[in-house]
Amino acid sequence: MTKISDSDIKKVCVIGAGTMGSGIAAQCANAGVEVLLLDITSDAGRNAVAEGAIERIKKSDPPLLMRKENVELISVGNIEDDLDKAGQCDWICEAIVERLDIKRQLYSNLLPHLKPTTLVSSNTSTIPIKLLVEENPQDFRERFCITHFFNPVRYMRLLELVRGEETRSDVIEVLHEFNDKMLGKGVVNCADTPGFLGNRVGVFALQAAVHEAVALELKIEEADAIFGRPMGIPKTGAFGLYDLIGLDLMGDVVRSLNTILDQGDPFMEVGGENKVVNDQVARGFTGNKGDGGFYREVGEDKQAWDLQSGDWRPRVRELPELAQRGEKGGINVLIEGDDKLSIFAWRVLARILTYSASLIPDVTHSPQDIDDAMKLGYNWVQGPFEMIDTIGSGKFVERLEQEGWHVPDFLRDNAGKPFYEAQGSLLKVRHWDGELHPVNLPEGVVRFHMTRRTLKPVLENAGASLFHLQDGLRLVEFHTKANALDADCMEIVKAAAENPGPGIIVHNDAQHFSAGVNLERFLEMIEAKDWDGIGKFLDGFQTAVEALLYCDAPVVGAPSGLAIGGGYEVLAHGDKVVAHTNSVLGLVESSVGVVPGGGGVKETYLRWYKATGDWAKAARKTFDQVGYALTATSPDEAVAMQYFVEGRDQQVMNRDRLIEASRVALANMHNGYKPREKPQFMLAGGEAHDEMVAFLENGKEKGWFFPHDVTVASAIAKIMTGGSWSEKLVVTERDMYARERASFIELAKTPETLERITQLLRNGNAIRN
Ligand code: NAD
Repeated sequence: MTKISDSDIKKVCVIGAGTMGSGIAAQCANAGVEVLLLDITSDAGRNAVAEGAIERIKKSDPPLLMRKENVELISVGNIEDDLDKAGQCDWICEAIVERLDIKRQLYSNLLPHLKPTTLVSSNTSTIPIKLLVEENPQDFRERFCITHFFNPVRYMRLLELVRGEETRSDVIEVLHEFNDKMLGKGVVNCADTPGFLGNRVGVFALQAAVHEAVALELKIEEADAIFGRPMGIPKTGAFGLYDLIGLDLMGDVVRSLNTILDQGDPFMEVGGENKVVNDQVARGFTGNKGDGGFYREVGEDKQAWDLQSGDWRPRVRELPELAQRGEKGGINVLIEGDDKLSIFAWRVLARILTYSASLIPDVTHSPQDIDDAMKLGYNWVQGPFEMIDTIGSGKFVERLEQEGWHVPDFLRDNAGKPFYEAQGSLLKVRHWDGELHPVNLPEGVVRFHMTRRTLKPVLENAGASLFHLQDGLRLVEFHTKANALDADCMEIVKAAAENPGPGIIVHNDAQHFSAGVNLERFLEMIEAKDWDGIGKFLDGFQTAVEALLYCDAPVVGAPSGLAIGGGYEVLAHGDKVVAHTNSVLGLVESSVGVVPGGGGVKETYLRWYKATGDWAKAARKTFDQVGYALTATSPDEAVAMQYFVEGRDQQVMNRDRLIEASRVALANMHNGYKPREKPQFMLAGGEAHDEMVAFLENGKEKGWFFPHDVTVASAIAKIMTGGSWSEKLVVTERDMYARERASFIELAKTPETLERITQLLRNGNAIRN
């Protein structure tokens, strides 16, 4: 086979335009790569199946496309007329039905059409490579491997790359590089064993939680509350995740793992036919895609399936006391008690963690592979071996032995030693041979939750930490729940700005950069009518972001996930945003009845002025998007709102490469850096104000807006215009901050705002009133 290199993947063919194929095609298009998407022919038209997929991609929610126009990079076809075109592509990714005979037939049909350098991979979840390609010539087997994506492809970070016995190493290298840098995946190399790593451990974990919940006769809400956030697992827990994936599909996955794993595998203890799941499917409850599964909504009512009575009942929203303590204290708090929920937590963890250890050395040599698979593929905060370290491997093994659990050799041999250890600037992980090796990350990949273990914060409080990186750069890391910003966080921001070294990166490795300011704190102050307290908080916030804006070194904000409200306001005060392509950016304050009070209105207004050269137009643009609490679901979308400045800000497909890109950006800005000149603002005046208010009144009459929508949007208008009688006055930046603060406090005093915040915090939904 001819030598190939990463730059050779210019055109991709995806065969199979179902759930996975359309996701893979969309992500290639997001990377700016041309895609040919093929499926079978149908009576409705030769390409109707693939065309249908395009329609689904366009309507997907959350969106598979980072910008709508990307879809134009995908052309469609079918496997009867277009295999020639497929053979001319650089990579063919097969994602058709999970049937060996059909996949084999497709490969043999493809053979005569392949150019010598085309790479071929399958997205199979369960079929070993050997079986897939044994009938094909050696040349085909050498350029074939498995690329196992997770659903939804744009959002799930894990790609399992599985090399067959005969796969050439350059094939693996090229696909590794392309999927890492272009498609933004965290690539984990896996052996060709059933379920690879993600599903082997992930499905086991889900089954263990369901199994123990049934055995201990728990409510499903109790189980999900424990096997959820307190364990660093997404809040869907086990039953909620079943609903999300689909009970029928999960049933199939479990059954298939059951047949392909050894009968002695501990999976059999929890992965047998699951009566509660089968019964729900038989009743027609297959999950969120249908009429619910274990949870459902009937009109306004949220219900849960009661495992004991076998019927629906109102969903219990209150978290068990143990879950509340667990959210703060983590897994050690969960497993120390002897009540039913603590026993559940212990048994589930004992199963998952021993199962993970049992996979070493046969399935992988490094605990990091398993930890990475669970963090990237299932969004766990910690992988199984990191959890064992949190408990303490010695303590963990001692309790397992006391209670008569089977302890895998790898775990027993290393009892008392941590699986991860920082040595100087290196983080090391204990491999199958008991030796510590540096963690394995591609060049340029930094996961800050790992790096931070080799660093000591220069300053730290409950909300955030300030680090000095090796090259002197400062890194501000938020670490509150959902990274909601409070006075502690802003104190660290300010401290960084006061001594910025060669530059500051504001970044964290949590799922969300920041969901905004801490509303719990606001609610307390509103209930106590502590208007001075609110004013003081806002003043502190503004002082900190202003310090960031004018400090004498460049500042880069490097977000991923949600960067909204106050989180976005922090970014807006840097010199450049280096954002992950899935970042959600925007000012959402109006949805809870307040205005952005951390300089968000001011910065957006200024940006729109720079874009339009007209203060009245800038005021209207800002009013529209802040008033509707619009967010962009990608940096591309954010350009149209000035939340992401084209030509200045930068986006990165792989969130693990944000720090590297930020470093480069800071180095480029460092020489001769000068903070921006303090701008002057002009209030857009009474006429602009009255137009906006007339629009609101008209909208209220037509039933588009609720009364409090009008009050809030009027307050936004007033910040920029000065109000009905205002002249077009020139004001300073400090004046603009003060105007935001005044409007914020005025709104905080209204019962409608109190109601909006209370509803959001108590019931999780934003209401309009
Ligand atoms: P799907 O049922 O949504 O889509 C399969 C598509 O393949 C359909 O559009 C079908 O028309 C098409 N197809 C069937 N035979 C074909 C043929 N001969 N040529 C071309 N197209 C053909 O399935 P999916 O969930 O997208 O799964 C596809 C593959 O990805 C399977 O191998 C599955 O195991 C694997 N996988 C699925 C998931 C998941 O979460 N759904 C995750 C990882 C891997």
